[in-house]
Amino acid sequence: MPADKPFETVIGLEVHAQLLTESKAFAPVSNRFGSAPNTNVTPLCLGHPGTLPVPNENLIRYAVRLGLASNCTIAGRSIFARKNYFYPDMPKGYQISQFETPICYGGFIDIETEEGETRRIGITRIHMEEDAGKSVHDQDPRHTLIDLNRAGTPLLEIVSEPDIRSPRQAYNYMKKIWQLVRYLRVCDGNMEEGSLRCDANISVRPAGEKRFGIRTEIKNLNSFRHVEKALEYEVERQITVIREGGEVVQETRLWDVARMITRPMRSKEEAHDYRYFPEPDIPPIEVTPQMLEEIRLEIPELPDQRFRRYTADYQLPSPDAAALSEERDLSDYYDAVLASGAEPKAAANLILTEVRRILNERSLDIDAFPVEPERLTGLLNLRKEDRISSSAMQTLLDEMTGTGKDARTLASEKNLLQVSDTASLEPIVDQVLRDHPEEVERYREGKHGLIGFFVGQVMRQSKGKANPGLVRKLIGEKIARL
Ligand code: ADP
Ligand code: MG
Repeated sequence: MPADKPFETVIGLEVHAQLLTESKAFAPVSNRFGSAPNTNVTPLCLGHPGTLPVPNENLIRYAVRLGLASNCTIAGRSIFARKNYFYPDMPKGYQISQFETPICYGGFIDIETEEGETRRIGITRIHMEEDAGKSVHDQDPRHTLIDLNRAGTPLLEIVSEPDIRSPRQAYNYMKKIWQLVRYLRVCDGNMEEGSLRCDANISVRPAGEKRFGIRTEIKNLNSFRHVEKALEYEVERQITVIREGGEVVQETRLWDVARMITRPMRSKEEAHDYRYFPEPDIPPIEVTPQMLEEIRLEIPELPDQRFRRYTADYQLPSPDAAALSEERDLSDYYDAVLASGAEPKAAANLILTEVRRILNERSLDIDAFPVEPERLTGLLNLRKEDRISSSAMQTLLDEMTGTGKDARTLASEKNLLQVSDTASLEPIVDQVLRDHPEEVERYREGKHGLIGFFVGQVMRQSKGKANPGLVRKLIGEKIARL
């Protein structure tokens, strides 16, 4: 193939999201991350004879929530299946999963492309399953240790159509899923802890070719950056193989973080015959129309809609709208500030600069921010009425965070209210102009820089409380009328 012939990249992702349920998928035992090894384990997690799995209702509700939010059809009836394989961290010898009938199918998620256009990525299916335990290789020099706390943790697997066309789009898609599961409060999205991870399938084909190329699958990517980097590497590798006259081998590969390359897994690890069969211990899962309506009500306004509302209705610049809608708590806070009467642009500016600065400085999440939305609006109102300067607004916000007091009380306590009524400023301005006839004369001859001098005098007379903007305006008007 000629060296300059362009290729097209084709990517489909399988994303696993660990669910934020109290207990495990089929057993009444804690699902908490970070407990001491092998403490959240019951005979059910180990598949002991005589135990009977019972599906966690929230596993089903969360699956439906995510399905509805990603435009899927929800199956009225779906079944669990056993996926059989041996692995040391899975003493049961099988995972409960779904195979032929997933609970959600045929949806889509819109992402942004490199060119800033919207691209629709098909969601083939979302199915429910349980996680296996964890093999720990780095705690003992001679042994692999097994921690079964994760065994039986509820997961959703979200399988995309091969609609993604570049590593950057895969990154954006992953970000979208992250955002969505967090908005829906079904998964904490913590990729470092493995709550959200993905297997990436990738192939290349000559541009214009209709058939897909042979794909490889990169297992267990656990950061947005790794998804993008691993796929970039794999695109180049596959193209090189083809240009050199070879053929891409369909195989599972691992991302080697240290060397920034993908390499094949040992072939034994990928010889799969799962012998799926319907799980005999769990009856079919029914989602009634009534349940569906109930769950629909649990879904908040989603980030895309909020972004559109912020840009279209409030005329916020796109980066601001994106920053405010990225996380639900921040967006909810902003909306609550607006609901208590603040002006959208001023509120957005204050939240994205000063509020965020304070959150960073104090390592706080917005839901622990002590300034109630109504109080932030109170502060914004003081500024809007010109009762405080913009630097006083910053000072007050810091004070409000520390004390929990409202802006008006603090402003008068701290002597930060500025005088903005013409009636009380006029006499001071008149006096200053009377006291400086020479400066007034030079001003009228064109030395307009002297305005700063006059403003300074008035500020001094008012002990710093005059509103400088208003003073400047009054001085200009007065001199013109003299
Ligand atoms: P498996 O069950 O072996 O994982 P699937 O057919 O269910 O295979 O596909 C898994 C993922 O691979 C899906 O996300 C799908 O979009 C993607 N995929 C399938 N064919 C290709 C291809 N030729 N190139 C890239 N991705 C692909
Ligand atoms: Mg796969």
